[in-house]
Amino acid sequence: MRFAVLGSGSRGNSTLVHSHNTYILIDCGFPLRETIRRLARLGVEPSQLDAILVTHEHSDHVHGVELLSRRYGIPVYLSEGTRRGLRKPIDAACILSAGDTLELGALEVKSVAVPHDANDPTQFVFFNGKRRLGVLTDLGEATLGVLECYRDLDALVIEANHDRRMLDAGPYPYFLKARVGGSHGHLNNQQAAALVARLECDALQHLVLAHLSEKNNRPHLARQTFVDTLGCDADWLQVADQHEGLEWQLIA
Ligand SMILES: [Zn+2]
Ligand SMILES: [Zn+2]
Repeated sequence: MRFAVLGSGSRGNSTLVHSHNTYILIDCGFPLRETIRRLARLGVEPSQLDAILVTHEHSDHVHGVELLSRRYGIPVYLSEGTRRGLRKPIDAACILSAGDTLELGALEVKSVAVPHDANDPTQFVFFNGKRRLGVLTDLGEATLGVLECYRDLDALVIEANHDRRMLDAGPYPYFLKARVGGSHGHLNNQQAAALVARLECDALQHLVLAHLSEKNNRPHLARQTFVDTLGCDADWLQVADQHEGLEWQLIA
């Protein structure tokens, strides 16, 4: 199994997972042309995608989903609440409720409920019979359900959205600071690192920090928090960039 990030941050998110002949895209927050360009950077054509999984209806996750699905006939898996929250209905929509497990080609996908200010938002864990990858962004706090489902991972893409002090001192109006920092907002660096520590993933090969706020975070602050909390090597951590994403990562 391998995975890559097309881009990550408040201006668009999309992650790609591949095992054997199966390609699954998680979210698509970029316009169609930009999505095609970013897929090409990874050596993938849109027609190779077997499914698009959607975590929730916020535009940084769904902007390009409807057109990509329609143009290339790709089925879209999402919760009923997410489907209802979309501005443009999707013809090829398949409901995948939180807690469900689904076989998609070579990959088993588990949908996990998360606390976030959207309709029934979910995140996903992938299993190819050997290795487990977790993708976990857009959640305000760790829940027991999250801690239960994101165990024994071989790779994890986790949100490190903001630095608490930068958010407090930053330019957002009070209501937005409260929303972002609240229990249905986004994980800050400290919360994200503490969550990973609680997962006790001894076999973790890749840890990728994602969905960093351009206004309220800096990659070096996020990295340092994880180094301090986990005692890991700073060079081992990776940060998914808004523009560059992250190249293919092989889970051996
Ligand atoms: Zn988001
Ligand atoms: Zn969101």
